[in-house]
Amino acid sequence: MNKNILIVTTGGTIAMKFDENFGVLPNNELVQMLKSFPQLSDIAKIDVFEFTNIPSPYITPEIMLDLAKLVEKKLPSYDGIVITHGTDTLEESAYFLDLVLNSKKPIVFTAAMRSGSELGLDGPRNIVGAVRVATAEQSQDRGVLVVMNDEINCARDVVKTDSGKTDAFATPDYGLLGIIDPDRIVYYRDRIIKEYLPVNKIETNIDLIKCVAGMGTHHIESSINKKVKALVLEAFGRGNIPHSIIPAIKEALKKEILIVITSRTYTGRVIPEYGYEGGGKNLQDMGIIMGNDLKGTKMRLKLMILFGKYNDTSKVREYLEVNQY
Ligand code: ASP
Repeated sequence: MNKNILIVTTGGTIAMKFDENFGVLPNNELVQMLKSFPQLSDIAKIDVFEFTNIPSPYITPEIMLDLAKLVEKKLPSYDGIVITHGTDTLEESAYFLDLVLNSKKPIVFTAAMRSGSELGLDGPRNIVGAVRVATAEQSQDRGVLVVMNDEINCARDVVKTDSGKTDAFATPDYGLLGIIDPDRIVYYRDRIIKEYLPVNKIETNIDLIKCVAGMGTHHIESSINKKVKALVLEAFGRGNIPHSIIPAIKEALKKEILIVITSRTYTGRVIPEYGYEGGGKNLQDMGIIMGNDLKGTKMRLKLMILFGKYNDTSKVREYLEVNQY
């Protein structure tokens, strides 16, 4: 018997069309198209729920939490949920839901790089692929998945790596979880990390600053003035920052702002290696947390969730020190 799948639409290019006067814009045809798409009804019994219809640069962590709550509420009535989303912030929403939800049933994000007016549409194929993944027995208990271009990635590690190609999504460090072949869904590996942080609220006063050569202190000072709870520094390489920002960093630490270091490199972990002022070892000795291999954008969201859960800097610090994910 066909499984019951809910498609939750949120917007993005997959729900957009080209307008001669304005360029590519949101359009309201996707929901109707999904309801009467024969390739989908052959695979599963489909319901469609329009959560919102916005470009994904407009998605906020608050919207992610609302989306997670909706998915949690709907899951008992379905065998799996597919979420269509803009590609620009898809990896952030997918990771957010991966952290706050704990479902054996598949939750699958998908999207399109091409709007509905372009030749060679990737959206319909990606949606069919996502629904096939959501109905597959092998997709149970794999965390939130991201399906694009006949490939399955895990939410924690997937990255949008290209601004225009249809194979824009990859997991640079660890590779795909699996693929969508015409005959069946094939998994090659399981996700590496399972982390579950249920929350009812989040703390959004958390900043992310990318380190650049010769940077000044004004961004960090602005975060201090904003009284952020935590600051993610996307550092160089193994987790090193310019010595010019050390005074501002010391000031932030004095104000009990939790500082977490991630790397701005494409792959790899940050570790306490270098002892010079601003080197990773020196930073850790100052009380700064090393964020392992997690990307800065995802660490920012994780901190929002952790502060929402504990509302206590020392508990968040302890969690991060004990759980080296
Ligand atoms: N700007 C679009 C969005 O993220 C890009 C896309 O969906 O591919 O909403």
